[in-house]
Amino acid sequence: MRIGTPTEVFDGENRVAMTPDSATALQKLGHTCVIQSGAGLKAGFSDAAYEAAGVEVVKTAAELWAAAEVVAKVRPPTEAEVAMLKDGQTLISFFYPSANEALMKQAADTGASVIAMDMVPRISRAQKMDALSSMANIAGYRAVIEAGNNFGRFFTGQVTAAGKVPPARVLVIGAGVAGLAAIGTSASLGAITLAFDVRPEVAEQIESMGAEFVYLDFSETQQDGAATGGYAAPSSPEFREAQLKKFRELAPQVDIVISTALIPNRPAPVLWTKDMVEMMKPGSVIVDLAAERGGNCELTKPDEKIVTDNGVTIVGYTDFPSRMAAQASTLYATNIRHMLTDLTPAKDGVINHNMEDDVIRGATITHAKDVTFPPPPPKVK
Ligand code: NAD
Repeated sequence: MRIGTPTEVFDGENRVAMTPDSATALQKLGHTCVIQSGAGLKAGFSDAAYEAAGVEVVKTAAELWAAAEVVAKVRPPTEAEVAMLKDGQTLISFFYPSANEALMKQAADTGASVIAMDMVPRISRAQKMDALSSMANIAGYRAVIEAGNNFGRFFTGQVTAAGKVPPARVLVIGAGVAGLAAIGTSASLGAITLAFDVRPEVAEQIESMGAEFVYLDFSETQQDGAATGGYAAPSSPEFREAQLKKFRELAPQVDIVISTALIPNRPAPVLWTKDMVEMMKPGSVIVDLAAERGGNCELTKPDEKIVTDNGVTIVGYTDFPSRMAAQASTLYATNIRHMLTDLTPAKDGVINHNMEDDVIRGATITHAKDVTFPPPPPKVK
């Protein structure tokens, strides 16, 4: 089959879904590859590098969408892109089907199959295709780098001839994939790192990364995440009060807050309130990775960096993986390549869209003119 990748059309998106290396691997599966001219430039991959890897370069998006039997891209398609889909074609990209129902229906009507990378089941076998995790890992790392860039001090404590420097104190709220990446990065830079999650089962992981788990003074146990498939559910009002009380205690003591707390299919919980920001020292930094879903900090402005009257910088960027486009594209293209490996079981360049396969079924949101979202629950862990 011909696998093709267009230039991303979303404003400011720097990633690309195919790299020269991933194209080489796709050709070993019996596929041929095609890319739109310039698609990889912002991630550091020139047309010449693709050509050297045996990829055909075409000039326009229209040519690309017409030439490719499988289109692989990063961002959900626009209406104009869906209008270019045709019967029998396959699109692989992020899609967020619950938020894009009309677009999903439009795609189903074309007869194309759509595989949503955000719907890959989070089971062990599918980890290599788990683009939500590969991008969250980058976002967590980059959040700490962004915090450091806006913080006028060292992370690590130092004793120098010019004076003693105390270590920075970093609080990470939410220890899912992004939070754990932030904890690891912060601890490796030498900051005293504290972390909180409603799921107590992450305490061991947090401590093994050199950070301190923040326990609440609360009679009930924290949430049992295992009961909700590893995800958090909204907290009870009493639990939330205990959490906010603890954060009010910590606010004057911490220099940097990285917040990553999310609850599936809901706005982000507001956990760092205006009065907590006011209690923070001037020069402190908040990086709110939940900004796209409204933010964990009450004062976050999505896509903006603001400085409050008391000198606290609040970063609400929503494009952290795109800010590390070379790394993000490499990992995302590898996730796509693994998806295509599973779709090409005989390595003969023929796609077998096996709807009996848990992972392929789980991620497929349109197939044979039908909307196939939501999928049935996966049979295996
Ligand atoms: P997420 O992005 O949905 O949420 C981020 C974190 O915020 C979660 O850890 C959640 O517990 C936490 N959170 C929610 N409300 C909070 C609150 N009020 N205060 C503090 N923290 C709060 O999570 P994610 O990164 O997508 O990961 C979700 C789960 O899936 C994790 O358990 C992760 O280990 C698991 N996972 C499993 C696989 C796999 O293949 N087995 C792959 C990826 C993730």
